[in-house]
Amino acid sequence: MQDIFANNRKWVETKLAEDNEFFNKLAKGQKPRYLFIGCSDSRVPASAITGTGPGEMFVHRNIANLVVHSDMNLLAVLQYAVEVLGVRDIMVVGHYGCGGVAAAAANKQYGLIDNWLAHIRDVVRLHETEFLRITDKEQQLRRLVELNVIEQVRNLASTNIIQNASKGPNPPRLHGLVYDIHDGLLHDLNVNTDTIDEFMHIYGVEAAEHAEKVAEKAEEGKVHKPKALENKPDRQQKKDEEESVMHKAG
Ligand SMILES: [Zn+2]
Repeated sequence: MQDIFANNRKWVETKLAEDNEFFNKLAKGQKPRYLFIGCSDSRVPASAITGTGPGEMFVHRNIANLVVHSDMNLLAVLQYAVEVLGVRDIMVVGHYGCGGVAAAAANKQYGLIDNWLAHIRDVVRLHETEFLRITDKEQQLRRLVELNVIEQVRNLASTNIIQNASKGPNPPRLHGLVYDIHDGLLHDLNVNTDTIDEFMHIYGVEAAEHAEKVAEKAEEGKVHKPKALENKPDRQQKKDEEESVMHKAG
């Protein structure tokens, strides 16, 4: 760990030499323009490959850059980045040579992580025809890395966070990128989220305002009880009835 602290001191000196107020300015708050969702792989350092410095990019990383609808960690990052920080561009960044993608494509068992990797197997299922048509194993994995990024961008687009933001004046733009660890270059996959728009009859959620109105009406008692509860008296009513029976008995 000594190297880590020595490097840190060196970095602080360099930054202060460039701008004496560097840390004072950062301490005032952040207003990052980008949200980066990438793989945890040590060869894909988010700031270095994008040339962004402190304060410029909010970052979430997990194995194989997945956007899973029930991942509270990712959802919290996404909601905060979109609704509080107001990021302008969100990028899902995959990378060729991804170990997570390779593990998902193989049928070996690795333990708990298999359940996480199952999300990539879903991508294979969705694109099986194209996937099986590629005979070269290396090419097949490279394409799976790209297809995985495309599907994760679509997963982003179908979250209620992005759907609500898209109804606002400045919705963030979604991007799918692939980083090539062989040459260090980033490639834009030009992911078209119109594809997800075609499925809004499935993924589309009511506007938040409407959901609020429904909640208000329910509060005022204007919403009928669900059918299953129609014939069931509520607790207070039951209690009143019991008391009245007791009074009569008394
Ligand atoms: Zn990876």
